[in-house]
Amino acid sequence: MTEAAYDAIVIGAGHNGLTCAGYLARSGCKVLVLEANDHPGGLAATWEFAEGFRVSAAHLLHILNPQVAKDLALELHGLKCAAADLRTVALDGAGGQVAIYGGKVEGVDAADAVAYAEFHRQTQRFTKVLAGFCARTPPRLAERGWGDNLALARLGWDLRSLGKADMRELLRIAAINIYDVANDRFENPLLKAAIGLDAVLGSHMGPRSPNSVYGYLHRHLNDGLGGGGPRVVQGGMGALGEAFATAAEAAGAEIRYGCRVVRIDLQDGRVAGVTLADGNGFTANLVLSNANLKTTFLDLVGPANLDAGFVRRVHNFRAQGVTAKLHLALDGLPEFRGLASTDAGARLLLTPSMDDIELAFNHAKYGECSPSPIMEVSIPTLHDPALAPVGKHVLSAVVQYAPHRLRGGWEASRAAFLQTCVDRLETFAPGIGGMVLASELLAPPDLEKQFNLRGGHWHHGEIALDQALFMRPVPGAHRYATPVSGLYLCGASAHPGGGLSGLAGRNAALQAIREQEAK
Ligand SMILES: Cc1cc2nc3c(=O)[nH]c(=O)nc-3n(C[C@H](O)[C@H](O)[C@H](O)COP(=O)(O)OP(=O)(O)OC[C@H]3O[C@@H](n4cnc5c(N)ncnc54)[C@H](O)[C@@H]3O)c2cc1C
Repeated sequence: MTEAAYDAIVIGAGHNGLTCAGYLARSGCKVLVLEANDHPGGLAATWEFAEGFRVSAAHLLHILNPQVAKDLALELHGLKCAAADLRTVALDGAGGQVAIYGGKVEGVDAADAVAYAEFHRQTQRFTKVLAGFCARTPPRLAERGWGDNLALARLGWDLRSLGKADMRELLRIAAINIYDVANDRFENPLLKAAIGLDAVLGSHMGPRSPNSVYGYLHRHLNDGLGGGGPRVVQGGMGALGEAFATAAEAAGAEIRYGCRVVRIDLQDGRVAGVTLADGNGFTANLVLSNANLKTTFLDLVGPANLDAGFVRRVHNFRAQGVTAKLHLALDGLPEFRGLASTDAGARLLLTPSMDDIELAFNHAKYGECSPSPIMEVSIPTLHDPALAPVGKHVLSAVVQYAPHRLRGGWEASRAAFLQTCVDRLETFAPGIGGMVLASELLAPPDLEKQFNLRGGHWHHGEIALDQALFMRPVPGAHRYATPVSGLYLCGASAHPGGGLSGLAGRNAALQAIREQEAK
C-alpha cells in the first residue's frame, strides 16, 4: 500500500536525520522521517543494560555545532548537561597522570606546558577555518559556478588570514602524522599519548598513520568556535536524541518508528519514494538518507540502478569499524592509580604512550583484537547518579582496537575480549574486576546490528584526507546530492563526517532546499 505523498522523506532518525528533517520542515516542507529502530537519535541512544543500570552508545558531547543547537532550540526541547567542560586526564597505569583543560596542561614540565598552550592556540586557529568549511557544502572543483568560486574564494581568504607561518605549518602537518607532530613539540609521553589518541579514536589508524593530524583537528572542531571540554548529557545521550526528535516535530516533521526502509523507489531514473520492510510505501520527490553510504546505494538503491564507476567508488569507501563499546555495572566507584578523586568524573584516557597505541593498532591490521586495548573512559553516574541504583556506578568505555572483521569471528571471541578489557582496566584501577555486577561489550558487528550501521564505523566511514572535505564520501556524492536525482545523503558518511555535530544533516537540508528552489 502506498500512503500519502510527502515533500521529503528522511531515512533514519539519527541526530543528523533529525537535524535535516528539522531544517526542511522549518523551510515549509512536509517531511516524514522513517526510523528502523523504536527510538530517535541513532547512536545518541541510552538503554538499560542491566537492571537499574543505563548506558549510552556515544557518551560524550564534543562537537555539537552551536548554530545547529541554536536553530533547533535543543535546550528548549529538553537538552540539559549534567557536566560541561570536562578535563581530559591521561593515565599510565603506574600512578602517572597528565590533565588537559583548554590550553592548560598539568603534570608536565614548564617547557611542555608552554608548548601545549601554543599548540592549543594554533589548533584553535586551524579549527576555526575547518569549522567554517565543515558548516558549508563543499564547492565543486570542476564545472564550477559562481557559488563554487565564491566558496573557494572564502576558503582561500580564511586560509590566508591564518598568516604565512600558520599556513605553512598547516600544509606541513596535514599530510604527516600525529606521532611526528607530537614528538616534534613535546617530551611528556602521556601528553603525547593523549594527543595521539584524540587523533585516532574511532578510526582504523594508529598515531603513525598518514592523515592522523586531520583526525585530531576533526575531534577538536569546536575549539575554533570557543567550545570547552566535553559535556555529559543529563539522562544519557539518548536525551540528546530525544531533544533532536522533539525539535524536528516542533518544526512540523512527522517521525515514524519501527519503519525499516528496504528500497528507495525510482521512476525514470529519479527518486519517487521508499518501500518499507512490511511492503508499505510512501511517495516523495525528495529522499534524504541518514543511513550510511553503502546501505544507501548498495542495499536501498541497488547497484543495477547506478553507474558502474560510482558503484566501485562506493564499494571502495573504507567503512570497517575498529571501535568497541564496553559497559560495566559497578558495585562502587573504582579508584584509578594516580587519579585525584576530584578528577574521577573526568574523561579518562588509558594509554601510557603513543607507541602503546600504535602497538595496539598493529593487531587490527591483521584482523586481531589488541591484547592491550586502549580506552576512553567515562563514569557518567558521577554527574548523573540516576543512571544507576544508589551507590552503584556505570563505566562507559570506548575501546580500540576491535576490528569488524575479526579473524575467527566475534561469536568465538567476544567473551575473551571482554575479559581482556576488564584485565586491562584492572592494571589502571586495581580491584575493579571484583566490582563488576554486569557487563556488555558491543563489538562493531553488534553496533552494526543494533544501530543499522553497516560496518559499525564511528564516522560511517574513515575520515582520512582521501575520504574527507571535497572528497567525502566519494566523488559524485560529495555535495549531499547524489547521481540519483532527488536523493541526498544527510548522515555521517557525508561531509564533514561523524561525531555528534548535526552538520551533515544541516548542510544536506540547506543544499537540498537551495537546489529545489533553483529548479
Ligand atoms: C562506539 C561509538 C562511540 C561513539 N562515541 C561518540 C562520542 O562519545 N561522542 C561523539 O560525538 N560521537 C561518538 N560516536 C560517533 C557518533 O555516534 C556518530 O558519528 C553519529 O551518531 C552519527 O550520526 P548520524 O545521525 O549520522 O548516524 P546514526 O547515529 O548512525 O543514525 C542513523 C540512523 O539511521 C537509521 N537507519 C539506518 N538504516 C535505516 C533504514 N534502512 N531504514 C530506516 N532507518 C535506518 C538507524 O537505525 C539510525 O537510527 C561514537 C560512535 C561509536 C560507534
